[in-house]
Amino acid sequence: MCGIIGYVGTKEVLPILMGGLRLLEYRGYDSAGVVVFDGKRFRVEKAPGKLQVLASRVARKPLEGTLGLGHTRWATHGGVTEANAHPHLSCDERIAIVHNGIIENYVELKKRLRRHKFRSETDTEIVAHLVEEKYSGDPRAAVLAAVRELRGAYALVIAFARHPDRLYGARLNAPLVVGLDSTESLLASDLHALLPHTRRVAPVEEGRVVELTRAGVRSFDLDGREQPLKPFEVEWSAEAAEKSGYSHFMLKEIHEQADTTAQELQGRLDRARNEVVFEDLGLDRADFRRVRRVVIAACGTSWHAGTATKYGIEEFARLPVDCALASELRYGDYPFDRHTLMLAFSQSGETADTLAAVRMAREAGAKVLAITNIRGSSIARESDAVVYMRARLEVGVAATKTYTSQMMCGLLLGMQMGRWRGMITGAHMGVLMKTALQVPGAIQRVLEDVAEIKRVAERFKKGYDFMYIGRRYNLATAYEGALKMKEISYLHAEGYGAGEMKHGPLALVDDHLTTLAIAPQGRVYEKMVSNIQQVASRKGHVVSVGTDGDALLPTMSEHVLWIPAVAEVWSPVVSVVPLQLLAYYTAVALGRDVDQPRNLAKSVTVE
Ligand code: GLU
Repeated sequence: MCGIIGYVGTKEVLPILMGGLRLLEYRGYDSAGVVVFDGKRFRVEKAPGKLQVLASRVARKPLEGTLGLGHTRWATHGGVTEANAHPHLSCDERIAIVHNGIIENYVELKKRLRRHKFRSETDTEIVAHLVEEKYSGDPRAAVLAAVRELRGAYALVIAFARHPDRLYGARLNAPLVVGLDSTESLLASDLHALLPHTRRVAPVEEGRVVELTRAGVRSFDLDGREQPLKPFEVEWSAEAAEKSGYSHFMLKEIHEQADTTAQELQGRLDRARNEVVFEDLGLDRADFRRVRRVVIAACGTSWHAGTATKYGIEEFARLPVDCALASELRYGDYPFDRHTLMLAFSQSGETADTLAAVRMAREAGAKVLAITNIRGSSIARESDAVVYMRARLEVGVAATKTYTSQMMCGLLLGMQMGRWRGMITGAHMGVLMKTALQVPGAIQRVLEDVAEIKRVAERFKKGYDFMYIGRRYNLATAYEGALKMKEISYLHAEGYGAGEMKHGPLALVDDHLTTLAIAPQGRVYEKMVSNIQQVASRKGHVVSVGTDGDALLPTMSEHVLWIPAVAEVWSPVVSVVPLQLLAYYTAVALGRDVDQPRNLAKSVTVE
């Protein structure tokens, strides 16, 4: 969950490291540090707290050189102190390292290395001493020998003062990407930190050591045999990491959804054959015809996108779907077999629990299809097939555009599975495609008029509790709307199946509870109306999300947030937008740190 950046090239390295750390700041951390080789020795600067603290220190004492490492720490072993912040050095201070992850056998290794001088309480520091122990003139051999002895999870970057023309990286169960350019090479835990320098990137494969020089990057397995790197060009530009005039990334990303949902449809709707086309999917019609049941593995917002997708697959492909929390699935006894299809939903493609569930399903003979935003991510590489979302880079910790993109992909897939399995006709698919094309415009309309949303935010910002209720496709919206509110405003909010209110939560209805009812037109609309009545008649505050022209909702709600009419299957993609905005304006009104909410990180690579 930390951020790593490493550089070897011809430019002054400090601004590159600080710029990289700033782009990785959203991942969440508690301290930061840099090391630069000044031509003679390593010079380290580190500080607990926000990146700004480190930035003001290095502004006073600039470090000069063209080789360096930067790190933001999310402490696992040892308190949040300057001594524990990375980088760490070997005893002779000629080896510098940064690390993301946990070295599980560090106690045993530390015992063996007891004649070394330790300066921190971290598990990480032992790696610097272990490499020092193994070094006898050949840096690559030393790194390989050290890494062979490590257990646990790591993305490591290692620099040697005696070999200032190169850097080493190693990876196991933690993300690490290299950036390639003609005169410089970089390493980072997240590809967008590389984008200001190059768009040509390659993931470091699991269990590999990479050697970076100005001239290029080579990859080795742990036996020292050279292995091919698989570089590709990233389509996003570095502007994706700018706020472009918006006050927060989250607001910018909410506003991008009219475009990103349109991108999800671009080129995927074959109107002549009435089929949805996914490029290079990796599974074919025959694979889908073999499937008897589907299990969705996901966490957090992705699990909500999975919840909406479940209804889509059941409606169109007529297959039973379990939407499981990956953190539960991985320790359960789900009966996977070759007739089970797992859909793995993960924005980052690095979510630790989802990755574990993917491995478990594949080992048991099931096929896995991933839906992710990140090419080359661990989940993408370890799945049989991948649908790549086209949301582009998302920086706000609270997911917005990746949620709507993920749902678009999941629902389109559900429809196409229906075609492959002969459950829906071409004519039916034709109608569904037409309705899909209305989604981007409907989102645009919601974005254009936010006055009522701001009024609701202002009125209830001192609220005590929020209950979000929905049914069927919009059960996902209830979950997701509540999660957005919790994440960025720190107010308590709960997502509930509307039919469940009478089984307990109705007892909460009083002047401090606001119920957000998601009630667009569709199969369960009348059921929602009854559930709203049950709250309103107990004098609860009700705010509804309803379809334009609905005359009934205003009679039983204090406020209505309107959305344009869209087909029921697409309604969760549109109805979540006013709720994202409501969470946003509430958080802003309360003065919260919207893009980096407390205690959270974007890419959850720990259990
Ligand atoms: N386990 C290491 C530490 O606590 C690395 C943590 C991280 O990934 O930032 O220092």
